[in-house]
Amino acid sequence: MRHTSSPLRVNAAELLRRPGSEQKIDVAVAVAELGIPVEGDDTDERFAAGAEVGVHLRLEALTDGIVVDGTLDVPWQGTCRRCLADTSGVVHSEVHELYQRVITDPDAFELEGDLLDLQPVVRELVLLDAPATPVCRPDCAGLCPTCGTNRNEHECGCAPPPADPRWEGLAGLKDLLPPE
Ligand SMILES: [Zn+2]
Ligand SMILES: [Zn+2]
Repeated sequence: MRHTSSPLRVNAAELLRRPGSEQKIDVAVAVAELGIPVEGDDTDERFAAGAEVGVHLRLEALTDGIVVDGTLDVPWQGTCRRCLADTSGVVHSEVHELYQRVITDPDAFELEGDLLDLQPVVRELVLLDAPATPVCRPDCAGLCPTCGTNRNEHECGCAPPPADPRWEGLAGLKDLLPPE
């Protein structure tokens, strides 16, 4: 989906005329406007229907291109992979890209004349950085593999899973060491 009026399609004519000059971009862009399906058969379940990405970028003109630096705030939703609770959050993606009219850097994006199109960069980072298998919090204790109790809420008292047999030899070794 391409809109000529998208805030991510920047007319860079002024910047390109004056190396060293800067332009800031602070906008919110709907995930749907990035061409990521948030409704319908091929919905990307990580994004709510009305989710918006915060785009905070600084464009700096060089003699042979434009450097784009900044961050994206990417809102995501999902199911905790440990306890299966609904969870959501915002991931901050770092942006460091170079746009050039004449590509001399193999990693650079091409300027289309005076047009600097940020959408492919933003879209790729949103797709890459929104977690596919999130956790509700870093120390989520998850569900008990034996009885299914949510161990964030209750201690179920089930025995811990058997120790890894590869370590048993080491435990025995400890008994052989002289007491300190
Ligand atoms: Zn969890
Ligand atoms: Zn249990």
